[in-house]
Amino acid sequence: MTERQQWQTSDLGLHHSGTAGLDRAHVWHPFTPTREWAAPGHDPLVLVSGAGAVLRDDRGREYLDGNSSIWTNLHGHNHPRLNRAITDQLGRFAHVSFLGATHPLAARLAAELSALWPAGALPRVFFSDDGATAIECALRMARQFRERIGQPERRGFLAFAHAYHGDTLGAAAVGGIGTFRGEIRDDAPLTVVRIGGADELETLPPEVVSRLTAAIIEPLIQGSAGMRPWPEGTLARLRDWCDRHDVLLIADEVMTGFGRTGTMFACEREAVVPDFLCLAKGLTAGYLPLAATLTTARVFTAFHDAPTREGRTFFYGHSYTANALGCAAALENLAIFRDEDTLTTLSPKIRLLDGLLRARLVPLPAVRAVRQCGFIAGVELAATDPAALTGVRVCEAARAHGLLTRPIRDVLVLMLPYVVNDRQIKAAVEALRRAILEIVPG
Ligand SMILES: *Cc1c(COP(=O)(O)O)cnc(C)c1O
Repeated sequence: MTERQQWQTSDLGLHHSGTAGLDRAHVWHPFTPTREWAAPGHDPLVLVSGAGAVLRDDRGREYLDGNSSIWTNLHGHNHPRLNRAITDQLGRFAHVSFLGATHPLAARLAAELSALWPAGALPRVFFSDDGATAIECALRMARQFRERIGQPERRGFLAFAHAYHGDTLGAAAVGGIGTFRGEIRDDAPLTVVRIGGADELETLPPEVVSRLTAAIIEPLIQGSAGMRPWPEGTLARLRDWCDRHDVLLIADEVMTGFGRTGTMFACEREAVVPDFLCLAKGLTAGYLPLAATLTTARVFTAFHDAPTREGRTFFYGHSYTANALGCAAALENLAIFRDEDTLTTLSPKIRLLDGLLRARLVPLPAVRAVRQCGFIAGVELAATDPAALTGVRVCEAARAHGLLTRPIRDVLVLMLPYVVNDRQIKAAVEALRRAILEIVPG
């Protein structure tokens, strides 16, 4: 068979089997029980196109993207400016190595990300691919930094209960949600000290504190914990405590970054500058996998001024580091924020969402609590039996009412792209209300 015939054959296979059949036969999905996914009665959602806040499936049905495609999308799907920025760069190259070379978009993006912070606060940017890799990078930098300044005994990390920082081994080690670890519970490659909140900071024994290199937190709100905002002042207290004990602060803004909480970054709300800032999800407005870890002159200089080549080298990197298409999308994302004044147009939408959640969801007996932080909302159901999968069933029912989202256990997540209009915000809340009433009657 010639190569060409092989191609034709596989095209035919694809055409006849259909996406669902091929998927069942060959694909393994994240955080998904395999047998339930492959069950004959399960009809997987096959998405084929999108525009703005709306996604369309292979049967022509339309849905609001109620979790911004797993918390990534900001300005909508198929955005003409983002599309053009990516295709313009595609006409030059899609990707080149960042080892031993640079390119104009990455250099400009690093400068623009730094410029979103007070002058000189976070002047260095290290690129990677995903939220988890942005975290890995911060964890390793914080470790090697201590080697550099002659404090190798400071190797531990302070992390919070219910934290989520991604699924690679290092990121999962600082994470605090058991259900994300599945059956493997003893794989932590790092020394982690875990506390429940800022009140516990002052109770940590000095011999524990003196062995910490860094503390890691999701600023303002823990996402995967079920959209749980921190008590006001938590981040500022942690920053102050870190300063007093010379512990570095890692801010995981993978979810909260780029306007999701109402300001460009969650840290701004408590006037905090971290030592490491991890960005991903919204960095490219949800178009391509790209991540960045920003850090201070202090951390960078410890490497830069090292006496040996080894000490001056940060031993970390990925094949697709600083991918050019990702950088093009990220630069255009920032340009859209400036040109369309995204944060200003978002604030009345945040107020509308707040009013609707209070009026339409809070009064339902099946709702235990509604939590909101900026344009992020979590609706906790009063369900008592996790095995009943009430959250999953409510989200399935919401799909029939034109809203796509995914729960965190019994917390329904509503995190719409910023591009939604008032009518769509109302429709999203109504879809959740109807779904809750259908699944948990009375
Ligand atoms: C999603 C998320 C991550 C992990 O990002 P990935 O791109 O999925 O690896 C890390 N931290 C937070 C707070 C997140 O929400």
